[in-house]
Amino acid sequence: MKAAVVTDFGKPLEIQDLPVPEPGPGQVLVRMEASGLCHTDIHAAHGDWPVKPRPPFIPGHEGVGLVQAVGAGVSEDLIGRRIAIPWLGSSCGTCRYCVSGWETLCQSQVNSGYSVDGCYAEYAVADAGAVVQVPDGVSSFDAAPLTCAGVTTYKAIKVANVVPAERVAVFGIGGLGHLAVQYARLVGGFVTAVDLEPDKLGLAHKLGADQIVNARTHDPVEEIRQAGGADVAVVLAASAKAFEQAYRSLNRGGRLVMVGLPADNASINVPIFETVLGGISVIGSIVGTRQDLAEVFALHAAGRTQVIAEQRRLEQVNESFDEVLGGRAEARLVFEF
Ligand code: NAD
Ligand code: ZN
Ligand code: ZN
Repeated sequence: MKAAVVTDFGKPLEIQDLPVPEPGPGQVLVRMEASGLCHTDIHAAHGDWPVKPRPPFIPGHEGVGLVQAVGAGVSEDLIGRRIAIPWLGSSCGTCRYCVSGWETLCQSQVNSGYSVDGCYAEYAVADAGAVVQVPDGVSSFDAAPLTCAGVTTYKAIKVANVVPAERVAVFGIGGLGHLAVQYARLVGGFVTAVDLEPDKLGLAHKLGADQIVNARTHDPVEEIRQAGGADVAVVLAASAKAFEQAYRSLNRGGRLVMVGLPADNASINVPIFETVLGGISVIGSIVGTRQDLAEVFALHAAGRTQVIAEQRRLEQVNESFDEVLGGRAEARLVFEF
């Protein structure tokens, strides 16, 4: 099978011809139809974070395809079903987090395309308990970006407890951000979109953002404050500066939701006095659960969301990374097989 492989941090990925993996006990073998490019895959290939993957590995955690074969202990009924392989490759199923609907916090989790091989390949194996079925009303091309970008931003809006008429600032209108704008609107928020690229802001406007701010030419803190401040600020940019600006845009009672993962374990200054008197919450949010993803698919099947994605071939993986890093991708890039 054809696969894009990270052979070393910072090196271009290599297209290799590898044997199709065998599904082990509890696993399914999936023939990939679409596989999204998440910015996390670029961080993985660069070794950007404190916990690093071990090359050689196949990135990718927005994989959608058909179950071709099952391993021991998995029902053959799954064969032929269309499923999504998310970031959460498996979790223990028994810890306090797994049994309370927070499997995303399981300390024994493995991560697709990071600690185990992922979806930049014609085939992948995945834990049968971790994959999520894709309903008929959602194309594989749309399902791929929803599998990380969708579920992550849906969860971020959920944990922020946005209520109607609250003001939600979204920093970073990329793969994640273009969906965050839509989920914030779905729950009744007034949305401010912040990015550095005029095209991304144009897209945010088309998707219903009430205010757009170009952080390259304007101070987002000033612009957001003038418009009434942010009750919730969701940060999806891989830039510490955006997190600082988001914090300073908040109203009293505001919630800062940290989602983007800048390199080098970046940190921001959170002033204690203002945080205490302002009743500010700082929330970290990591992807979403299988149930969250099922909800994301259901909303999409019902026509409530729009996925903006462009098709690429796996051979274009390195140019595609450059497009995303250069801010030139409209929103998501998806490899199709
Ligand atoms: P992306 O590259 O598609 O989007 C990032 C956007 O941020 C781009 O539009 C870019 O122009 C914009 N941006 C960059 N600097 C900015 C700044 N200073 N101010 C405003 N906007 C700025 O990336 P993506 O795939 O949407 O992922 C975004 C981040 O989220 C990555 O760091 C990724 O690793 C992380 N991520 C986190 C989770 C999680 O569960 N917490 C899940 C998926 C991705
Ligand atoms: Zn992702
Ligand atoms: Zn667990």
